[in-house]
Amino acid sequence: MHDEVKSAALNPYHMAVQQFEAAADKINLSEDMREILRQPKRELIVNFPVRFDNGRVKTFTGYRVQHNVNRGPAKGGIRYGPDVTLDEVKALAMWMTWKCAVVSIPFGGAKGGVICDPKQMSPSELERLTRRYATEISIVIGPHSDIPAPDVNTNAQVMGWIMDTYSMHEGYSIPAVVTGKPLSIGGSEGRNDATATGVLFVTRQAAKRIGMPLQGARVSIQGYGNAGSIAARLFHNEGCKVVAVSDTRGGIYNESGLDPATVLRFKQERGSVVNYPHAQNIGVQDVLEVPCDILIPAATEGVITPRNAGRVQASIIAEAANGPTTPEADEILFKKGALVIPDILANAGGVTVSYFEWVQDLQSFFWGVEEITKKLEMIMNRAFAAVVDKADQFSCDMRLAANMLAISRVAEATQVRGIYP
Ligand code: NAD
Repeated sequence: MHDEVKSAALNPYHMAVQQFEAAADKINLSEDMREILRQPKRELIVNFPVRFDNGRVKTFTGYRVQHNVNRGPAKGGIRYGPDVTLDEVKALAMWMTWKCAVVSIPFGGAKGGVICDPKQMSPSELERLTRRYATEISIVIGPHSDIPAPDVNTNAQVMGWIMDTYSMHEGYSIPAVVTGKPLSIGGSEGRNDATATGVLFVTRQAAKRIGMPLQGARVSIQGYGNAGSIAARLFHNEGCKVVAVSDTRGGIYNESGLDPATVLRFKQERGSVVNYPHAQNIGVQDVLEVPCDILIPAATEGVITPRNAGRVQASIIAEAANGPTTPEADEILFKKGALVIPDILANAGGVTVSYFEWVQDLQSFFWGVEEITKKLEMIMNRAFAAVVDKADQFSCDMRLAANMLAISRVAEATQVRGIYP
């Protein structure tokens, strides 16, 4: 099933460039500026050895791509996975540039990845892989140049290892080199929930816009990791009914609603949500098509395609994942009248609280969770309103509007700085 999902996906970089060109056309971006913005500024490929617990050595390939740094240091997550490709990382880096611009935080875009299967590795193997990868990319990362964060299959512990490795090389602690760290070493309150919290804030605005009460609204979520499982908890607490969730092995459905905390415990114990006793098993793709009001893709890119977009039943699609909808599927959803809150807006809560974490680390002065949540809500609501204004002005979907807004901001910074030399 997983392979089927992947093969249906468009090359993510082609998808990102296609979205870029569409927005560039709409804002009449000059050919010179397109030439600069359509490709990443820097692509680092590293091959490095890791010693396994059994004494054998295996070589891994990793990437760090910086798309644009004209608005501030590069920022973006690191993902581990057997299917990671350079084109995927390039697309994600470009989306990070637009994402930081759409919420007006002073960062450029980057992304990293390592081709590996973390599920087949022991914690000590994963630590050695992480520390060596961190060392290899330390020529481009740094608190004022490029700041990694967690993404698919990486977490606070992985960020802790990267922070420690980088700090060991420098000779003193540099917490601001990564975000999404454990609280004990300079992480921020609210960072763990930030992506899902941001998804909730913009979904509230979207629901208000189309007159949908969130109380009792049916929610279906693809992916039950950091973004997906926390979204399930927050939407459940908001009074929504989480009717379906899934992971790589399959999905579960209960029209009366699932209890997200029990599902999470079940997944932690059994490795998957599949066979959860109080629900019916469904296919990995079915979670996108079940009867629901709000669909939250929170797994991976390229999952809503022309093949299934017509069967999506939700009125609001809030993209917690990056790049879940292909451009052709976007058109189908727009024509159907579904409101897609695009990834660069919907999941920007994560990078926004990462920004707060970085600021706190640089100042060595830490804020409480109430302050963080209040500031996050203000930024998400402001960005939502700006994107909706643009969409209304140009009678276009929110993705095009968000890209137009973001690309204009990045182009302006690039123009003002000029081309060196
Ligand atoms: P994660 O590794 O914690 O969870 C990913 C989940 O998706 C897992 O449950 C996995 O089983 C599932 N999954 C993967 N491929 C799938 C498939 N084809 N079908 C169904 N389920 C699948 O990762 P995460 O951090 O929650 O990230 C999920 C998405 O959200 C990614 O697109 C990521 O880029 C995006 N995102 C995450 C953050 C963050 O702060 N964690 C921020 C912004 C965007």
